[in-house]
Amino acid sequence: MTDEVRSDELPTTPMDPALLANRDGKIDVAMISLCGCWGCTLSFLDMDERILPLLTKVTIHRSSLTDIKRITQRCALGFIEGGVANEDNIETLRHFRDKCDVLISVGACAVWGGVPAMRNVFELKDCLSEAYVNSPTAVPGAEPIIPSHPDIPRLTTKVHPCHEVVKMDYFIPGCPPSADAIVAVLDDLIHGRPVALPRSLIHYD
Ligand code: SF4
Repeated sequence: MTDEVRSDELPTTPMDPALLANRDGKIDVAMISLCGCWGCTLSFLDMDERILPLLTKVTIHRSSLTDIKRITQRCALGFIEGGVANEDNIETLRHFRDKCDVLISVGACAVWGGVPAMRNVFELKDCLSEAYVNSPTAVPGAEPIIPSHPDIPRLTTKVHPCHEVVKMDYFIPGCPPSADAIVAVLDDLIHGRPVALPRSLIHYD
């Protein structure tokens, strides 16, 4: 891990799931995509009608389902899709860590870097050259430009799994994990049971 993503303020232990179920009222949940393809987010949507009974138990805050851009209050659960590939991802993930009691890595990119981490075997400058200078889609005769602007988040040297930036409490592997796997973990957490993802729902592809 490089200093660019190092966190010296890692939380200590995961929140006891039983505490979640003992809360008064609904459980506040947030979710975000960092450097991923939104495929894991589609698995959330694949919950289909199963999300309806869950909505009596949870309130969804920042998420791709609600289009809320910022967590404005403390949440019990935070689901993270995608790894960390730029400075904006770092800031967003640290904000989730600050605001959520329990963080869950969803999918290969969040768990170990996934497809975006394939660039880790190359130098970042070589990746940028391949994308913007030597690309077969570069306009012939045009001056190649590697995008750079204060509004464009600076890429990290390497792509990192979330747990290299902040403490993560649970991990759901898969590319993407199935909706069944996400439902199983969410259901355990909101009912205060220890998370016990059935082996049949665990896959790594
Ligand atoms: S784990 Fe797979 S499906 Fe999920 S964001 Fe990464 S590439 Fe997409």
